[in-house]
Amino acid sequence: MTLPTTAAPSAPVDVLVVGAGPAGYTAALYAARSGLSVRVLCGYEPGGALTTTTQVENFPGFPTGVHGPELMEAFGERAQRHGAELLLEQVTELELTGDLKTVTTEDRIHTARTVVLATGAAHKHLGVPGEQLPGVAYCATCDGVFFTGRPVVVVGGGDTACEEALYLAGVASSVTMLVRSDRMRASAAMQARVLADPRITIRFDSPVIAVLGTEKVAGVQLAAGTVLDADAVFVAIGHTPRSDLVAGQVALDVDGYVLTAPGGALSDGATTTTSVAGVFAAGDLTDRRYRQAITAAGSGCQAAVDAHRWLTGTR
Ligand code: NDP
Repeated sequence: MTLPTTAAPSAPVDVLVVGAGPAGYTAALYAARSGLSVRVLCGYEPGGALTTTTQVENFPGFPTGVHGPELMEAFGERAQRHGAELLLEQVTELELTGDLKTVTTEDRIHTARTVVLATGAAHKHLGVPGEQLPGVAYCATCDGVFFTGRPVVVVGGGDTACEEALYLAGVASSVTMLVRSDRMRASAAMQARVLADPRITIRFDSPVIAVLGTEKVAGVQLAAGTVLDADAVFVAIGHTPRSDLVAGQVALDVDGYVLTAPGGALSDGATTTTSVAGVFAAGDLTDRRYRQAITAAGSGCQAAVDAHRWLTGTR
């Protein structure tokens, strides 16, 4: 895939997609395939979170799995083949009110009839020495299988950490949850599930001050001076949706996720319609629960359908 870094300014497009992960590329593919003019502002490092993973084994259609960067390259090429224009441009400002939306990048000003926001969410990092070592992971569903039969720790005490621990309990030889204070933040139901699971050990008052190991994770150092052996550290201390650029324009929830209107058949929040007419949002930017490549791609498809309906008056 070749991505021009500069291109001549052009007329307004039907759909301007901001973000080039599974959600953005899928929105672009579906919108372009439905005959709309589509431009994707990819930033300087297209592909989203999957470009930082190695083998992806839970994306359907790949019998032997697929490398994250390779998968995202294919997503981009597929969208391009249907006519979507992909630009390596970083968005600096959006003006989303009115019939014609304006999106400014470091290179130029784009205009569009609809905008699909698909900028994703960032994992929060521990910010401790050793966090860059192989074996530090942020998604049990994605990477847990690589630690089958081996001891792992999960850092965090929220619902995500509980879900990660419960998933890993079925895979790893042992799971130790490290909660930094004397209490968990998770819902009562999730706390009850991890507390009742004999495969999971919970250590309270256990902040991690370093991840240990030379070439890969060998354990963690706790503030109390204790060292725990582990082959993997799953960090589950929350996500930060990348919604800074649209804060104050589209409605966000208390944690900064873009709110989308209920009304779909799948669940509440199943549409991609935001609080601003003609602006749609997809992927992890709107999703605190599932956060999978396949769900992001699915909501990208929904955003394209919603944008098409909006533009053609069939909503
Ligand atoms: P939360 O913000 O709820 O929890 C984060 C956890 O990580 C807390 O225990 C927090 O500790 C801990 N933490 C934060 N920073 C550090 C650090 N530097 N070192 C160690 N621990 C740290 O995030 P979640 O991702 O768990 O959940 C986000 C939202 O999504 C919640 O509203 C949750 O209910 C929801 N959710 C719902 C699910 C479901 O319904 N199935 C599944 C997953 C999430 P402390 O409490 O001390 O700040």
